[in-house]
Amino acid sequence: MRLTRIQKAERIQTLLDTYHPEVPVPLDHSDPFTLLVAVLLSAQTTDVRVNLVTPALFEQASTPADMARLSVDEILECIRTCGLAPSKAKNIRALSELLVAEYDEEVPQTFVDLERLPGVGHKTASVVMAHAFGQPAFPVDTHIHRLAARWGLSDGSTVERTEADLKKLFAAEDWNNLHLQIIYFGREHCPARGHNLEQCPICSWAATGKRILAEKTKNAPKRPRKAPKSQQRSPRHG
Ligand code: SF4
Repeated sequence: MRLTRIQKAERIQTLLDTYHPEVPVPLDHSDPFTLLVAVLLSAQTTDVRVNLVTPALFEQASTPADMARLSVDEILECIRTCGLAPSKAKNIRALSELLVAEYDEEVPQTFVDLERLPGVGHKTASVVMAHAFGQPAFPVDTHIHRLAARWGLSDGSTVERTEADLKKLFAAEDWNNLHLQIIYFGREHCPARGHNLEQCPICSWAATGKRILAEKTKNAPKRPRKAPKSQQRSPRHG
């Protein structure tokens, strides 16, 4: 029997609750500002890497005023091993200055104000709204975007579309938790390669037959290409 998107969403949520009942925020932080900086650092960088660099950075500056007093080079020195470190260092410095100048050193609690900050896009703002302020948000990163499409919860056309579809399918009070549960599930269960969707606790029933077949074809070992006739040796020459 073909499941509707809503039925799929309910079943997926039950499974996620079973697999990942506890989902702590994976980025170490102590308040909204340190979370904001950690989330900004996590773009194209693993959370583990971010957690390795933030202690030294926050040791030097854990408030907007202290951070604004550091030079871009001093910030860069602490975060050098993260991807895109030079632009992240500039953004951290610039957003700290803006928080001091216009927000009384407080991280703002609206999407409009958060997304005004240098280096802060909608996904980063959503994580801060969700996990610093407990406001319902559904941060969609590339992993959630891909999984939502695989599970048939969204058509996967754009990240914005995925966010809107997920928000329609799940209750607002569950969004913040679900975003983390999907991330944890993806990290634990979704290998980058060699998927057999039929053995997966979710894709085995949630993915469409077409998608299962497409993955199988994609992951099948490639057959060696036949050499052009001119290069084929005649059996006579052994
Ligand atoms: S098959 Fe399972 S493991 Fe692979 S992407 Fe789907 S949910 Fe993840």
